[in-house]
Amino acid sequence: MLHHRKARRLVPRLLDWFGANARDLPWRRTRDPYAIWVSEIMLQQTQVATVIPYWKRWMRALPTIEKLARAKPERVLKLWEGLGYYSRARNLQAAAQQIVAEHSGCLPKDLEAIRALPGIGRYTAGAIGSIAFGRAEPIVDGNVTRILTRIFGIPENPKDKATQENLWQLAETLVIAADDCSALNQSLMELGATVCHPRKPDCAVCPVARACAARRENAIDAIPAKSRAIEYEEKLIEVYLITRGARYLVQQRPEGAVNAGFWEFPNSEHGARFSVPKNARPIATARHTITRYRIELNAYSIRSRRAQGHWCTLNELRKLPFTAGHRKLLKGL
Ligand code: SF4
Repeated sequence: MLHHRKARRLVPRLLDWFGANARDLPWRRTRDPYAIWVSEIMLQQTQVATVIPYWKRWMRALPTIEKLARAKPERVLKLWEGLGYYSRARNLQAAAQQIVAEHSGCLPKDLEAIRALPGIGRYTAGAIGSIAFGRAEPIVDGNVTRILTRIFGIPENPKDKATQENLWQLAETLVIAADDCSALNQSLMELGATVCHPRKPDCAVCPVARACAARRENAIDAIPAKSRAIEYEEKLIEVYLITRGARYLVQQRPEGAVNAGFWEFPNSEHGARFSVPKNARPIATARHTITRYRIELNAYSIRSRRAQGHWCTLNELRKLPFTAGHRKLLKGL
């Protein structure tokens, strides 16, 4: 109860601070729910600076839900190439098709209907509901979790169910107490992104510093409580750069595989083997990390006239959506 009373007192400070310090981001210049939805999906797991050019390119290429619904899946993946977590792009298109079929091409205003769309969880629904439609819907993501656990001195692991629910209720108290729900939620996002950093937060410029329990108790490094570190699994993959004249052999990842629909060079990931001499050295190496895998790709050059499949020139390859590791190899060619 005390927490909720304190939360309400924070609202004017957060709104004043946001009014004076909000960054000028392109999706903040529009009230188009579709544009805001795309930005929210891109911003999941990706930094603002990276998202800006992707968002602009996407909105130029697919400016409406109908255009996204009708676009070729390969074009959608190409526009997303490099952002990672490609299920986000696939879900955006599936949701757009559902909106065209069931909601006449307009994002529904009803929160339950928004949450019924592919790829939209509680956070994204709250962000769309509050920012696009001005509704008092709470949001809790990593940034908001960090701010609330620190301000209220919540030492429990925020991933625990009861603690999560407590955070959602605090976020709800905040947004209900604000005249401008969109600005309130964005003030939390902004504070987490620009001031209350995971390490070394800039408390000297924080508008709620005087109310912050973690700061007062010198517990900033301990709050929020950390989950166990990810245990990475190393994967070594042979990649075969098979050429016939100026053309390279490539293949598309099958339905159901991670990164389905993306292109790549033939490789040993799914058991394929080309004869590479035992003491041959890779001509290029690329490393990248995805979910819990640290992957090393070692590329070998092979000439073959007999291999069957899809042959492309370098120019043609550059127009196809490639998975991250294979794109690094492609750039080196
Ligand atoms: S005072 Fe520091 S730790 Fe507390 S909310 Fe502000 S920036 Fe974060």
